[in-house]
Amino acid sequence: MEFFVAARISNLQVVDPGEIRRVEFALPDYVEIGEIRYSLHDTMRPGTAFLAKPWGMRTEKFRRRMYTRSNSSCLEPGVLETFINHTHRPLADTSMWWQSEMADIWYEEGRTVEVRLTVDESQGLATVYENAALCKDGNLRLEPDGEWEDSRLVCVAYGTGITPFLSYIRYMANQAWRQGGGKCHGHMTLIASARHQGQLILHQELQEIAQQFPQHFRYVPVLTRSWPEDWPSLKGRIVQTNVLPSGEEQVDLTPLLNLVPDLSQAHLRMCGSFPACRQFTQGLREQGICPVTVRMESW
Ligand SMILES: Cc1cc2nc3c(=O)[nH]c(=O)nc-3n(C[C@H](O)[C@H](O)[C@H](O)COP(=O)(O)OP(=O)(O)OC[C@H]3O[C@@H](n4cnc5c(N)ncnc54)[C@H](O)[C@@H]3O)c2cc1C
Repeated sequence: MEFFVAARISNLQVVDPGEIRRVEFALPDYVEIGEIRYSLHDTMRPGTAFLAKPWGMRTEKFRRRMYTRSNSSCLEPGVLETFINHTHRPLADTSMWWQSEMADIWYEEGRTVEVRLTVDESQGLATVYENAALCKDGNLRLEPDGEWEDSRLVCVAYGTGITPFLSYIRYMANQAWRQGGGKCHGHMTLIASARHQGQLILHQELQEIAQQFPQHFRYVPVLTRSWPEDWPSLKGRIVQTNVLPSGEEQVDLTPLLNLVPDLSQAHLRMCGSFPACRQFTQGLREQGICPVTVRMESW
């Protein structure tokens, strides 16, 4: 049996009009199921997604959709933050609703969206349902504490695919980077690819974290379609494709390798669309590059 709780839309901000919004859901402290009260504990692991039932604008029904949480349960318990983009797919449904005026009205009226729970009846406890309970190559659940602290991570994010890495960064900064004292030797490079500057998610916050923890975090924003004249970071796609005279497609990883020449000594993490992730792995294969581990999630 599945259990859901009504979570209030507690924040709805435009990142890029009609394209990307920041959404937050506030969970109540407890939930009543069959006259039994369960306290609601927020233990979501960085890199996991929750399941909500937003409104589908095309189908005019509530739909089940996964969203990766971008904040951290240890810093903001009970508040699920995510970033949602309009997919512009022919059958897009909920993704365009989130960009609509109707969503604004729901937010202003304090309306709720159902979020799936996992209920432990023997303990009287409810937690937010997570898409991934174990770390696998095809998900981005962060490794257990004690395993990631000294790792060198290279995280590649396409658009809203930055969400799992935002959760990692906020968690890592709080758990390890802030403590200093040479205990944590880990490092993360975040390469965040967006079409234009207005689509960079939490750009300023990421710049500030990079300045605060230069020994642990490097932030590389990349603009692929347009950029200001004085744009100081990378321009164009980090992974490029060339069509050979034979019609075969060849993937060129040079822009990425210029940024991280020692990719084969890093743990690679990637999140974005299926085609972007497929091209990337094709390029790694073609060029014989084998990072220490590769994990990715595509939507
Ligand atoms: C684990 C997980 C985490 C996610 N996290 C986020 C997040 O943080 N932010 C976010 O914006 N989205 C996220 N998504 C995607 C999100 O759940 C929705 O799928 C997305 O918002 C589109 O919803 P939609 O209702 O508009 O369209 P959908 O119902 O997804 O798609 C519309 C139509 O397109 C088809 N379709 C779906 N995928 C493809 C494809 N790759 N190629 C061709 N056709 C396709 C579907 O069959 C459907 O008919 C996540 C998905 C998963 C599985």
